Amino acid sequence: MIVVMEPRATREQINEIVRKIQDAGLSSHISAGVERTIIGVVGDSHTKELLRQSLEASGGVERVVLILQPFKLVGREFRPHDTIVDVGGVRIGDGSVVVMAGPCSVESRDQILQTARGVKAAGAVMLRGGAFKPRTSPYSFQGLEEEGLRYLAEARAATGLPVVTEAMDAAQLMLVVKYADMIQIGARNMQNYTLLREAGRVKCPVLLKRGPSATIQELLLAAEYVMSEGNYDIVLCERGIRGFDNYTRYLLDLSAVPVLKQLTHLPVIVDPSQASGKWKYVPPLAKAAVAAGSDGLIVEVHPEPEKALSDGPQQLTPDSFSRLMAELIPLAAALGRRVQAPAALR
Ligand code: PEP
Ligand code: MN
Repeated sequence: MIVVMEPRATREQINEIVRKIQDAGLSSHISAGVERTIIGVVGDSHTKELLRQSLEASGGVERVVLILQPFKLVGREFRPHDTIVDVGGVRIGDGSVVVMAGPCSVESRDQILQTARGVKAAGAVMLRGGAFKPRTSPYSFQGLEEEGLRYLAEARAATGLPVVTEAMDAAQLMLVVKYADMIQIGARNMQNYTLLREAGRVKCPVLLKRGPSATIQELLLAAEYVMSEGNYDIVLCERGIRGFDNYTRYLLDLSAVPVLKQLTHLPVIVDPSQASGKWKYVPPLAKAAVAAGSDGLIVEVHPEPEKALSDGPQQLTPDSFSRLMAELIPLAAALGRRVQAPAALR
């Protein structure tokens, strides 16, 4: 249920509504738009119904609307305008194209520093790299853990690029938040509800990746878990779903981009690397994602992909990444958009 306030509603009137919601044992979420404030009411349906009349009769209220979609706060009904998520000064969702790049895994201090400098020189505005890796086999490289987080923080200090990195459980989350600018919740953990709730309680933006078998609605409900706990800084990521063909690793669902942009106010980005599994297909998929309206890309780049400890076949070299960036700029311009450039290159 949402309470749409009149454009001229006063702060006291808004506070009064929030107080009534809290007194009823429900939780309130405020979305202050340019025109008017919308207050989301979340909790037990019966209690909401009992409260409805009293809210409708309150001063400053224009109308009270029941949200029919199963997701509430992440939907456009609650917040009609686009959410812009600020990650260390990089604004995701403002209409421009944000490119995050870096290796699948942080493997050594040199590797991450070298890659960070390379991707920045090519035009990336954020650095990616896994320190905790969700590997299919327990015998595969599992990541450098906290040591990897320290190298990522060093790479940020050296380049100024904000860092996004994965946390696989609630305990790792607290550690990741100490070092990173954005927490990645990986595809395999999209429905780890304990982790989602914990991510909702920290003050750190979240990159939520779509599970390989998750529907669009399930992805939005996963984001709702994070947002209902009070963290509104969420970016969604389409990274490919299970198809029946094995020429590519996953089937990149580009239709999810315009569908999500219609249903939710949250920014949506695309990971063409996990989706294709093969570096050759990354540039065409990256360009198609921008054409489909993606707010950005997260791309795997490794100085020596053939020696990578994870996902070698899908990682671009700094050179091929640089060529991709050079193609994205005129493509975005033709679409009336701009590719964000790192501070020193502006
Ligand atoms: C990754 O980004 O390296 C990764 C493991 O992603 P996903 O969770 O999408 O598979
Ligand atoms: Mn990877």
